[in-house]
Amino acid sequence: MPYAELQRGLDERAELGLLRQRKILQGPQSPHVVIGEQSYLAFCSNDYLGLANHPQLVAALQQGAAQYGAGAGAAHLVSGHTRVHHQLEQQLAAFAGKPAALLFSTGYMANLGVLQALVGKGDTVFADKLNHASLNDAMLLSRATVKRYRHNDITQLAELLAQPGSGRKLVITDAVFSMDGDLAPLPELLALCEQHDAWLLIDDAHGFGVLGEQGRGSLAHCGIASPRIIYMATLGKAAGVSGAFVAAEQVVIDTLINHARSYVYTTATPPALASALLESLQLIAQGEEKRAHLQRLIAQLRSGLHKLPWHLMPSATAIQPLLVGENRAALALSEALRERGIWVAAIRPPTVPQGTARLRITLSAAHSATDVTRLLEALHELAQ
Ligand SMILES: *Cc1c(COP(=O)(O)O)cnc(C)c1O
Repeated sequence: MPYAELQRGLDERAELGLLRQRKILQGPQSPHVVIGEQSYLAFCSNDYLGLANHPQLVAALQQGAAQYGAGAGAAHLVSGHTRVHHQLEQQLAAFAGKPAALLFSTGYMANLGVLQALVGKGDTVFADKLNHASLNDAMLLSRATVKRYRHNDITQLAELLAQPGSGRKLVITDAVFSMDGDLAPLPELLALCEQHDAWLLIDDAHGFGVLGEQGRGSLAHCGIASPRIIYMATLGKAAGVSGAFVAAEQVVIDTLINHARSYVYTTATPPALASALLESLQLIAQGEEKRAHLQRLIAQLRSGLHKLPWHLMPSATAIQPLLVGENRAALALSEALRERGIWVAAIRPPTVPQGTARLRITLSAAHSATDVTRLLEALHELAQ
């Protein structure tokens, strides 16, 4: 067999409890998903506001397809940039409080594009050790010098920034850490960037739509703004659709349009997605009740979980990780919940550091208090 070596690699992974497999959903994303014949109460999506299957978004998508067709047919710089893409960019810029914005097909591609366009050989990137994989890959591919600092450790970052060096300096961080749910100290990071004349790239994949007034995200939540901040957020999580955007000064956006390879050399996303996203932005802005409900669920979950044998990590966001430690133990706990009709994903290395396998519980405004009670009861039963 020409692939025996690949098979051995997979077998090894399985041995370590690390093999990844997909579950096939029979219908839309929702707190109640159907896998095979069975319905599960699920706590694993990033659909924080419950918009992924919202009838207004579905209608906007249909209407967008009727008006603009199914596919964009070309890259943005060729002939794929439609009026509705452009309109969405303008609204995203205004919503994020920035002069300009640029749409990318995915968050992964946005991060690749930004790093590659803004830094290179001779420049230095300063990165939190728990940043998302897309930021990690992006900084390595950028060929800049990489300096990683301990998670949220401002003191270490200050030391690294103070070291002599030439070239551009770019600090990159998740705003809400995707596997831990905690927030980066954004005001302190910005102050350090001011002091050392560095740029600050903030990845707000899990804050956009959820945090801040009108769901404007982590910058609004922290009350910070600066031309130094390059703001990136994704549109497939709270926004319920797909894609990502970068919002920044016009000169930064123009640089991305000219140099970000993951922007230039790829087909524009279907315009209908932009139609749906325009609708989503409205629902986000008017979503105070959804966000308030989500906060109540977070409080309910945290107060019900703190007596369990597993460590509930400190998080005030919709991402509530329950630290189990060992890979197999995390998998077994996830499996035991599944037997009770509840689906919570076990997150294992390399997504998280060795020895910190966890259940990543995510809440959505589409959950009810009863849903959370069911999860709490099951976990208390399993703790016995
Ligand atoms: C999900 C995520 C991304 C990637 O976004 P996609 O649109 O899913 O490619 C980037 N950064 C962070 C922090 C994320 O959680």
